[in-house]
Amino acid sequence: MTTAVADRTLNAADRCDRCGAQAYVRVVLESSGGELLFCGHHARAVEATLRPMTSDWHDETERLNEKAAVPVD
Ligand SMILES: [Zn+2]
Repeated sequence: MTTAVADRTLNAADRCDRCGAQAYVRVVLESSGGELLFCGHHARAVEATLRPMTSDWHDETERLNEKAAVPVD
């Protein structure tokens, strides 16, 4: 199942809900349809728990590898 929001690319204005870093993962909660944003670090931290409860898991963390100048963690 795809949703319209999945087409939107994350940008610098999107911030991790946990730490405020730039978000690279957007998830949509199956139960509420609510949207959560995570940086690469926190996406990994919550993935095992959260992913089964989501209807969409939009992962752009591969883009982190394109920006060698930006430190990850
Ligand atoms: Zn974070």
